[in-house]
Amino acid sequence: MAIDLSTLNPPQRDAVLHGDAPLVVFAGAGSGKTRVITHRVANLVAERGIPPWRILAVTFTNKAAQEMRERLEHLVPGAARDLQVGTFHATCARLLRRYHDRIGLRRDFTIYDEADQRAMITRVLRDLKMDEKRFPPKSIAGRIERAKQEMVEPSEIDAGVVDTPHVRAIVTEYEKRMAAASALDFGDLIYRMVRALENDEVLRKELATRFQHILVDEFQDTNHSQLRMVLALASVHRALCVVGDDDQSIYRWRGADRRNILDFRRHFPDAHVVKLEQNYRSTKRILRASHAVISRAFDREPKELWTDNDEGAKVEVHRLNTEREEANLVVTTARALKNEGKSLADLAIFYRIHAQSRVLEEALRAASLPYRVVGGVRFYDRAEVKDLLAYLRVLSVPEDDVSLLRIINVPARGIGKTTIDRLLDRAAAAGNGVWEACKAQSEERGGNKLGDFVGLIESLRAKVADLDLPGLARTVLDETGYVQALQAENTPEADARLENLAELVGSMEQFVAEAEEPTLTAFLERVTLQTDAEGGDSKGENEIVTLMTVHAAKGLEFPVVIVAGMEEQLFPFRGLEQDADPEELEEERRLAYVAFTRARERLILSWASTRYFFGNLRDCTRSRFIDELPGSDVKFVGGTGDRPSFGRANAGWIEDRGSTRVERFDARPSRVLSTTAGPIEAKVTRKSGGQVSLRVGQSVKHVRYGQGKVVRFGTGDPPNVDVEFPGHGKKTIRADFLDPA
Ligand code: ATP
Ligand code: MG
Repeated sequence: MAIDLSTLNPPQRDAVLHGDAPLVVFAGAGSGKTRVITHRVANLVAERGIPPWRILAVTFTNKAAQEMRERLEHLVPGAARDLQVGTFHATCARLLRRYHDRIGLRRDFTIYDEADQRAMITRVLRDLKMDEKRFPPKSIAGRIERAKQEMVEPSEIDAGVVDTPHVRAIVTEYEKRMAAASALDFGDLIYRMVRALENDEVLRKELATRFQHILVDEFQDTNHSQLRMVLALASVHRALCVVGDDDQSIYRWRGADRRNILDFRRHFPDAHVVKLEQNYRSTKRILRASHAVISRAFDREPKELWTDNDEGAKVEVHRLNTEREEANLVVTTARALKNEGKSLADLAIFYRIHAQSRVLEEALRAASLPYRVVGGVRFYDRAEVKDLLAYLRVLSVPEDDVSLLRIINVPARGIGKTTIDRLLDRAAAAGNGVWEACKAQSEERGGNKLGDFVGLIESLRAKVADLDLPGLARTVLDETGYVQALQAENTPEADARLENLAELVGSMEQFVAEAEEPTLTAFLERVTLQTDAEGGDSKGENEIVTLMTVHAAKGLEFPVVIVAGMEEQLFPFRGLEQDADPEELEEERRLAYVAFTRARERLILSWASTRYFFGNLRDCTRSRFIDELPGSDVKFVGGTGDRPSFGRANAGWIEDRGSTRVERFDARPSRVLSTTAGPIEAKVTRKSGGQVSLRVGQSVKHVRYGQGKVVRFGTGDPPNVDVEFPGHGKKTIRADFLDPA
């Protein structure tokens, strides 16, 4: 069947039909870059007869890979199965397994996620008797990741003058243990693949010959090791097609390098360049707003998008008093959509940092509106799910220490900390894994709890060959007493855990029915490599509001988008200890551009003039990105929070607090400009439960500022209260943090 090119504009068609020389599609958001990749793959197979297994497509999410498969399946039934498509990590995992013997790996190697990796580092620190405070596992993990991204031998890590020898010792031991456990971390997947390709000429030739076409989406967010991999794989046919947008490079903190796309022609001087300028996603107003923000970046390739779409509704900027009011805005918007007969799936809420989701979730829950948080605590990160997977991993590779230690006393079987410490010492002394230590120790002593555990694992291992994956999972849950322990708990939490386990076993059933290779290893690989941009839960995708960080939203689109927390310090984000770094601000700007350009019909930005931020109540000013929007495309709701033009420039600002307008300055007490007699009394439900009544003039206590007097009530629920504290001046405090003195 021929593919339909009528749904492509001329430059898109040019890119889809371009022959075998290198190709770069360089274009702004929503211009159809991903669509070009999908159509190009379909065209290669359907029109040019390229076997799907000779095409490698790298997508940003597994979901995008899935979509590409579906599209291809529709065009060329039966072809999609063989298409090599996936994220960088999934692609490398697959190739490493395929060529494991050449690369010196076990075929069923385990992939450690970030939590597993940290657990391994913690163990290394323990055995090397090094201090976790001085060498926090998280930062060691970061150094390891960075070294691998840069293709630096981990043992050659440069960690600064003083620490380098220590860090190298930790990392060397870590690498040794990972090898003993047959485990690879995320960084390894790409690092090992690149090293294999660059050191093994025969392998490189073989793979580079096999892949006749290579296509990479979101190329602006590739890092150095990923670039090296692509270059090696494209070294024979050079039929490489990359698409991307330097304005949407938002993973610098993970080593992404925009130069990879900007300098593409340095690697391929003959590359054909296609630029796409028509945006099909957003309204004119949304596009102008997005352009206003990105065009101020100091370092970018100039490009402007246009659209045939409607002018559309103005971009709304809502100013709220507190983050709770902001959460109410989300609820009201969702309800209004429902009342208009639209789907809740049309609505997405973005925020800059994960911590913002809690308040939003609470409000949605209270309003009984279904939602899902993408990339939060994922289904596969839940304790019971990880426990079952850890059992399955141990059954496949008992040397997997991290998994073994996870389940050695789960459910509780009387193997206490002392025993585990002894095992760890023994393993460290003998230079082998915990499983060996378990066996040795239980043999010496006999008839003990450790012996029962070893017996249990061995008897389960004996059943692996006879059972399919879901059958094995059920047997594990039953014979380890895991299910019985949860049933005995008889609490709602335990019930929820049982449901999650049932869901997990159900997903294995489905996996076994559909997968090309229905093995445990393949299943584990799939769940470990899910990216931030896909939730683990597949149920109930419809009629549900989506919450996610802006980072996870890349490549996606929604009819209605709310970007919450559009405040200075939060978006653009600035950590408490950081100095303003122009490079970081640039990345924040690109992030705002990504956020705004996800919206198709309506874009709503919200900000709160006070917000609890890492436990502190903070006065906030609206984000500079709001100030940059073209006035005629914006509708302000709830006041602009404008700065007064009199007095010192930018020294203060005016707030609308419902019935009161207040002029506020950083260094001086606020001045009420006008009021329509705000409330003089408020009933407040305390955090600890119980109600108190506060009035203007009353003495109150606050943990940090001590005793003060209520001056005024603001809006919000619970209300904000202005309190004059002798020695601290006037502070705005949320009422439930005050006690009558
Ligand atoms: P991003 O930069 O956000 O990743 P993109 O450039 O990859 O965006 P796509 O996601 O491929 O853009 O396309 C954006 C939207 O426009 C999609 O809904 C797509 O179906 C639609 N679209 C793209 N090209 C066309 C076209 N020629 N005709 C109609 N719709 C199109
Ligand atoms: Mg895209």
